[in-house]
Amino acid sequence: MRGLIRKLPEERLEGIGVCPGVAIGNAFLVDDPRGRVVRVFLPKEQLETEIFRFREAARAAQVQVKKDIERVRAALGSDHAYILEAHLLMLQDRTLGRQIENFIRVNHANAEWAVRDVTQHLLEVYGQIEDEYLRERGSDIEDVAHRIIKILSGKEQRSLNEMADNSIIVAGDLLPSVTADLNPRKVLGFVTGIGGWTSHTAIIARSVNIPAVVGVRDITERVRSGETVIIDGAAGTVILNPSPETLIFYTEERQRQRQQALYDIEERELPAITLDNHEARLRANIELIEEIDSYQRFNAAGVGLYRSEFLYSQAETGQPTEEEQYEAYKFLAGMVGDEGAVIRTFDLGGDKLHLDGFKTERNPAIGLRAIRLSLSVEPVFRTQVRAILRAAAHGDLKILLPFVTNVDEVRQAKKIIADVERELSDEHILHEQRIEIGVMIEVPAAVMMAEALAREADFFSLGTNDLIQSLLAVDRGNENVSALFDPMHPAVLRAVKMVAEAADKMQIPVNVCGEMASNPAQVILLLGLGLRDLSMTPSAIPAIRRLVRSVKLTDAQALASHVLWMDTPAEVRHYVQAHLMDLGSELLAAAYPG
Ligand code: PEP
Ligand code: MG
Repeated sequence: MRGLIRKLPEERLEGIGVCPGVAIGNAFLVDDPRGRVVRVFLPKEQLETEIFRFREAARAAQVQVKKDIERVRAALGSDHAYILEAHLLMLQDRTLGRQIENFIRVNHANAEWAVRDVTQHLLEVYGQIEDEYLRERGSDIEDVAHRIIKILSGKEQRSLNEMADNSIIVAGDLLPSVTADLNPRKVLGFVTGIGGWTSHTAIIARSVNIPAVVGVRDITERVRSGETVIIDGAAGTVILNPSPETLIFYTEERQRQRQQALYDIEERELPAITLDNHEARLRANIELIEEIDSYQRFNAAGVGLYRSEFLYSQAETGQPTEEEQYEAYKFLAGMVGDEGAVIRTFDLGGDKLHLDGFKTERNPAIGLRAIRLSLSVEPVFRTQVRAILRAAAHGDLKILLPFVTNVDEVRQAKKIIADVERELSDEHILHEQRIEIGVMIEVPAAVMMAEALAREADFFSLGTNDLIQSLLAVDRGNENVSALFDPMHPAVLRAVKMVAEAADKMQIPVNVCGEMASNPAQVILLLGLGLRDLSMTPSAIPAIRRLVRSVKLTDAQALASHVLWMDTPAEVRHYVQAHLMDLGSELLAAAYPG
């Protein structure tokens, strides 16, 4: 192990383990892509190059903003582009540019630091202005600074993939799009300062199967690049400067896990049938087309959720063209064959990925995201629908609408889909004429309106991540309240039951695609509540298959109806834990890591 030559005592830090597995490697400290910037003192001879670097970034930012303006104008009309036009003026303002360049010269500073310092100063001045309108313009300065810094550090981001082998990424936060780009051959694991089990960064970690721990406070201050780090992604433990004994212990643990992975592969063909002969369907959640490898490795029965928004984060221009989308969806359809795939229309906005040109919102989880955004940028939505309908002519694809809160949204989306279908017919382009359209049930309003929504939908998909967030009023990505994000909360179980009953009454299929479907303790309750179609991160399939094969459906039903009326999440958890103990220690360990 190539650690620094300094003998520091071993240090154990606790966070939230979001992808199980042991990783042992060298820390690679990454700056926070949301804008934390480090100060570098540059020698005199580098200053002109640094100024050139800043000018280039400012120029690139102008090009980006101009493109965004055009996109917003085309999608929403000229009136909506005024914020971006103000950004462009700021970028073209030579006074601001000269101030930043002077700062670099006088302070021997790197460009990122200069941008941050000069704009911070401006922000303070704006903050004192009485006029509210002008004061609000401060957020535009912040946006512009953020954009330039992002471009400047984007150049460094390339070096993320040029990092040494055996790296463990350590960052304040990693955006899902950055996580998705990590090269799993080089990155053994990652640790972040913020995040929770169902934050999108965590979901991506599981999908690329890289051991990860999030929510480790001050991690970037405690570790230096090059130091040896161990991650136990199941327990949520991060060990800095491990002692030789600790190193031996975790090396053996890693070996044991590799052995377990081999057993998992051996069991991949076993049917997911309960002891009393009821079959469950175990499907895969996919974020990146590249993940199709693990779809096959774990023998998933179709793709229950394809999070199409990640295509947008990967597209060079921020938006994949119809052709690019068509190729991706067609490839997916071909890979899954008769088992089929459900393509969720883009859930952009919110806490994960954004459509270029849209500002970060004050309260993004309940802002202009998902179906709301689709209906407000109709041309972008239509492009996606065209691509899906065309690809569906080559295989079994379905459409899923995310974050529905209102029957009207479904009606409007269906109208657009029908219109796009007619357009393709008129153009004599090969496409699917009668695609199935599903609705995600992931907010309390949709639970309450499930029967009405079922009249409009061909199927339901229960998104427990957002549902728990909104039902319990707990930010799914906030480590400070992660203990309150509790799928075992009786309110959550009762909501799940309501949805299962509504779907049953209205005779439409329902599946679960939230992270509850990945945890054996929660899956036993889902089975008991009447859900048999489960879609999960592919690496969770072996443990869930084992769970299904170890229970009787009648026992799961008795268990669920017993805990449903308990008063507290803790009571539910203890009761289920005791039940799992009877089924075997392995399942218990998978359900309650650490
Ligand atoms: C959910 O909310 O449960 C879900 C599956 O969607 P996402 O995690 O992408 O928000
Ligand atoms: Mg969701």
